[in-house]
Amino acid sequence: MWQPYTQMKTADPPLPVVRTDGTRITLADGRELIDGVASWWTACHGYNHPHIRDAVERQLGLMPHVMFGGLTHEPAAVLASRLANLLPAGLDKVFFSDSGSVAVEVALKMAVQYWLNRGIRKRHKFIAFKGAYHGDTIGTMAICDPDEGMHRMFAGLLPVQHIIDLPRDENTTAAFEQFLQRHADEVAAIIIEPLVQGAGGMLFHSPDVMRRLRAAADRYGLLLICDEIFTGFGRTGVMFACETAAVVPDIMVLSKALTGGTMALAATIARREIFDAFQSDDPQHALMHGPTYMANPLACAAANASLDLFAREPRLAQVAAISKCLAAGLAECRNLPRVKDVRVMGAIGVVELERIDDMQALKRRLIASGVWLRPFNNIIYLTPAFTMGEDDLLALISAIKSVLTP
Ligand code: PMP
Repeated sequence: MWQPYTQMKTADPPLPVVRTDGTRITLADGRELIDGVASWWTACHGYNHPHIRDAVERQLGLMPHVMFGGLTHEPAAVLASRLANLLPAGLDKVFFSDSGSVAVEVALKMAVQYWLNRGIRKRHKFIAFKGAYHGDTIGTMAICDPDEGMHRMFAGLLPVQHIIDLPRDENTTAAFEQFLQRHADEVAAIIIEPLVQGAGGMLFHSPDVMRRLRAAADRYGLLLICDEIFTGFGRTGVMFACETAAVVPDIMVLSKALTGGTMALAATIARREIFDAFQSDDPQHALMHGPTYMANPLACAAANASLDLFAREPRLAQVAAISKCLAAGLAECRNLPRVKDVRVMGAIGVVELERIDDMQALKRRLIASGVWLRPFNNIIYLTPAFTMGEDDLLALISAIKSVLTP
């Protein structure tokens, strides 16, 4: 097998896993690791939640999959209407796909074709931001930070997009405004990970930035796409990060925790006005996209069960408690050598170092102390399941402290 993001010649072999349960990963040799990253930010209710498992088992007996072209089914219809109810008003047309990158690609196509269908031909570029990460496919690589996005060597292949500074302060806001004056009429949409740029380095920005983007999009008539693949479903302390800024995007993208970490599923959700621009007597005005496994019934059943859990269990209160625990526990890291910054938002805790010299050795030490973390670039971070108890959280924090202590 070919492992992701891995230099296969030099990397340690991957650890064989035989079981997951709650916040634990059990390895083939019997060792148990506390999962501090909830399987790439997906398993927000912990692993193997019985309510999700039951829903998937029931669905498996009825219909594991059926194509979505020309057919539909209740798990998808119910999920679409629940998402529309949950999301800020106006976001109510749901297109399902099977991964975050693909769902972002769909958002990009929706945005460009929105303008084309309205007879406006010039708007086919995107504004994205330094520090951004939106996926690994060709189209999404082009809107990642070229340095942080792990895609630098593909520069010659990628369409050239506008990757600029976030409008954080007076200078960057002025530069953003100047940029828009020059280029807005060739831009289809602005795309942003609201409040936290995740895979680009767990970089936080204030809700003001989001408000500036919405205001600029309105002023120049651009669409605003919020990629909430990481931030959605409670991770930042509210159900969707754009709520903190009271900003409603034109298109939102969700995946990761959508199924509570059970199945591959993603959704691109558009405001009705976007959808309406595709309604036409011209067949070419249709959205030409249709992943084979889109709206997979098992995945939709898992997502519906995950939404039940958000409704009936105190997830956001749990996130608030985790946030306090992370803030208190990680604060002491500030005094450790080479620590540049410690930051916490919702159930995200980040220790930023000046640099990590020997990543492999660091990973080995973390595993030896019984935790599963995925440090990258110069950061060690925690994104635990919202159901994680204090003991496990403290064990994760103490593992981080111990690897940073000389
Ligand atoms: N957008 C964001 C914000 C992400 O964090 C990720 C995945 N890390 C993606 C898009 C891509 O999702 P996937 O890996 O499911 O293609």
